[in-house]
Amino acid sequence: MTTRNDCLQRDAQDPLAPLRAQFALPDGVIYLDGNSLGARPVAALARAQDVIAREWGQDLIRSWNTAGWFDLPKRLGDRLAPLIGADDAEVVVTDTTSVNLFKALAAALQMQAAEPATAERRVIVTERSNFPTDIYMAQGLAGWLARGYSIQLVDGVAELPAAIDANTAVVMLTHVNYRTGYQHDMAAVSALAHAHGALIVWDLAHSAGAVPLALNADGADLAVGCTYKYLNGGPGAPAFIWVPKKHQARFRQPLSGWWGHAAPFAMAPDFVPADGIGRALCGTQPVVSLAMVEAGLDVFAQTTMAAIRAKSLALTDLFIQLVEARCGAHPLELVTPRAHARRGSQVSFAHPHGYAVMAALIARGVIGDYREPAIMRFGFTPLYTRYADVWDAVEILRQILDGQAYDIAARRDAVT
Ligand SMILES: *Cc1c(COP(=O)(O)O)cnc(C)c1O
Repeated sequence: MTTRNDCLQRDAQDPLAPLRAQFALPDGVIYLDGNSLGARPVAALARAQDVIAREWGQDLIRSWNTAGWFDLPKRLGDRLAPLIGADDAEVVVTDTTSVNLFKALAAALQMQAAEPATAERRVIVTERSNFPTDIYMAQGLAGWLARGYSIQLVDGVAELPAAIDANTAVVMLTHVNYRTGYQHDMAAVSALAHAHGALIVWDLAHSAGAVPLALNADGADLAVGCTYKYLNGGPGAPAFIWVPKKHQARFRQPLSGWWGHAAPFAMAPDFVPADGIGRALCGTQPVVSLAMVEAGLDVFAQTTMAAIRAKSLALTDLFIQLVEARCGAHPLELVTPRAHARRGSQVSFAHPHGYAVMAALIARGVIGDYREPAIMRFGFTPLYTRYADVWDAVEILRQILDGQAYDIAARRDAVT
């Protein structure tokens, strides 16, 4: 049986251990919610002060040029690209995940509509268990387009082969499920979509910075993702959109603002899309937030996704093993796949009083979160989570469960 000392030993040998010092984490907190809001890189504070005091305060509007504000979406996109298996000039950091998904989905439908062989296709396939905003954005888009698109919801990967057919315009999936941590086989599912003439749009909200990705090698068509989760970009930090070179010339998105124009400062009355990834942009970006994304990427530049993945699997394996060994008398049900290839960087356990147990954990400094129905979600971020943290978190969970030290009548906060 693994002891706390074993965990301390593993921390002492962990090649990623020194990176923890680059994050500002409060004492007395075991932070297992980096899948929802990544911790703050220490350097983000000085960066924010510099952007506000010098770039904005002193240099004023000149900073669009001198501080590179205008190019930030593309420059950050190029820095993010290697983490997701994309090439240079294929990614921009901009807007929100919801908005980027709208752009990507609209562009994919347009690409299909423009080809005689696929022009009549009217179905968008996604999962019922997808993060709701993804489904809502698809519903919103389908409602605006007068061409009669419908959204087909499937229950799990097993239903995909039967659901994807000659009516499918686009398959839109989240690569790692936010609730269960299930990870799709990107290459296999992309190939399945292509075999039926469909395009595939991936949401990488719970994948980018969490698991190795190979968008180009795996044959994906378009992708979007989040920077405030595993990439530690800060609350509400701008998201990203990936448009591979193979699709850039055909990619047209409806939010055709001036930042996506071929010559924004020509101030011409007609929209002409920029060549390349610039056409995925819309308008002026929140520069202070955008600048914070770089502080997160700076930490990733010091390691590899392979090293992050190896530690992520070790942390999640350890958590599962300890919970099952030490809390086995309680009605906990593992909802995250045991198979490494199918697991993201989180572990979810269902418990009949999941909300109350999570509230008790948070009160004792173990911060995870709760998702309906009954699911306690624990995110493991290898850049700053220690093996001893895993041991301590399970010990506190054991004490809470053994002592029934949770209030099942607790009032719920607006954000769980
Ligand atoms: C977190 C998450 C989002 C968040 O979208 P916002 O536009 O940032 O609110 C969207 N989709 C998925 C799959 C997510 O996990």
